[in-house]
Amino acid sequence: MIKFIQTRGSQEPNNNKATFSEVLLNPMASYGGLYSPETLPKLDEEFIENFKNRSYKELVEFVLNKFAIDIDKADIDDAIGLYEKFDDPKDPVPLVKIKDKLFSSELYHGPTRAFKDMAIQPFGSILSSLASKKEEKYLILVATSGDTGPAALESFKNKKNIKVVCLYPDGGTSDVQRLQMTTVDAENIKVIGIKGTFDDAQTALKRLLECDDFKKELLRTNTSLSAANSVNFGRIIFQIVYHIYSYLQLLKNKEITDQQMIDLCIPSGNFGNALGAYYAKKMGLKINNILIASNQNNILTEFIDEGIYDIRQKKLKKTTSPAMDILKSSNIERVLFDMFGSNRTKELMENLNQNGIFILSKDEKEQIQKIFKATFCDDNFGKKVIRDYNNQGYLMDPHTATCIKAVNKFQTDKTIVISSTAQWLKFAPTVLNAIQNDDLKYSDKEAIDIICKITKNKTTKSIEELWQKKIIHNDIIDKEDIDKHIIKFV
Ligand SMILES: *Cc1c(COP(=O)(O)O)cnc(C)c1O
Repeated sequence: MIKFIQTRGSQEPNNNKATFSEVLLNPMASYGGLYSPETLPKLDEEFIENFKNRSYKELVEFVLNKFAIDIDKADIDDAIGLYEKFDDPKDPVPLVKIKDKLFSSELYHGPTRAFKDMAIQPFGSILSSLASKKEEKYLILVATSGDTGPAALESFKNKKNIKVVCLYPDGGTSDVQRLQMTTVDAENIKVIGIKGTFDDAQTALKRLLECDDFKKELLRTNTSLSAANSVNFGRIIFQIVYHIYSYLQLLKNKEITDQQMIDLCIPSGNFGNALGAYYAKKMGLKINNILIASNQNNILTEFIDEGIYDIRQKKLKKTTSPAMDILKSSNIERVLFDMFGSNRTKELMENLNQNGIFILSKDEKEQIQKIFKATFCDDNFGKKVIRDYNNQGYLMDPHTATCIKAVNKFQTDKTIVISSTAQWLKFAPTVLNAIQNDDLKYSDKEAIDIICKITKNKTTKSIEELWQKKIIHNDIIDKEDIDKHIIKFV
């Protein structure tokens, strides 16, 4: 069984390792750190040969088995069974050829139309079964920039022993995203808009996860606290699998030979998706570089180019790819830990928390650059990409579009797989502005209807139903009042 160790070292040196289930239920480690796997399983040649023709579900099962996690087989089966709810249960993550040597791994074919479903659906199912078996109650805190929230609510609604509080930045999401949260009608769910940004929501969440008084208050109602953000390794494990799957699809379709390396390109925010790719590479998958794409909040580009993570003068900019509007990218910490160990990670993260900056040594920077390359683009570049690629017959969302900047810039000689992280209809007004090269204001519904008329693309039933649904959650609060509201709900 692979155990999990703490990125900033342990306060209890004799008891510093945790199992998968422990990490899932209690994701925060000592000194504000995270849990990371102590080792990673290896994928050998035989595996590659064996799995070329197997289903996605079999592949997930295989990877989870390799980690030998402490979850009962029946619960794993239930969790993996949720991929049945995707558009094509046989192929939940289609790999689409855009042009020669460029492929899109469409990670958005789940119930809420963004890639968060890939991990949160099975993760939520496992967490709920653990909570019922232990007869313990859990409060799951979710901070969302718009896609995690809907996916988590979909996964946890009406689950026994689980309550969810979901915080989203008021005005920071699309209509579709907001409605996917505020119309969820389930006793165990509370959705709250906050007057602030996603970073404010995530900071509040991390503070509460570490706050002993808050936890004590919750324990009076026999409730423990957990988180569904990608600080939780329970999500990351499912984000390793689809990268392996895309590679296997390329092999199977004879787009590459088994000697060839590929590049991945990932539109990144909290770096969960990219971390999954990094782990897949370490497990032996033939990945050459991981190209990180960002919007104008280009902290990751700066970090990877210069080895300096500096948020001192930075203000978050609102962009048309809001799921990447972020300054504190949580999963960078797991990469630092994996490369430089816990003492150094603790030092770097403490510098960031106290002074708003950390600086890698030249050697450390080069180690990062061996694997990661990064670039960013602004909204106008993104719109032009959407327009140009739509003209060639492939419609992408504004997050996915940022990848093309990286693809153009690095001009690698490898076959590249870009992660397509959301369906166009989650960000329809931007996509319509892009296609028509205008900046008129549309509601999400208007934009979706027009795009369906002028292109071959179709909307989905779940989105159509949203427009009729009743709004259940109306609360918009100041960020200072978050604790109070949560206690009241519990
Ligand atoms: C969450 C999200 C991202 C960023 O993914 P990370 O794993 O947080 O880096 C990118 N695009 C979309 C559409 C998302 O929902």
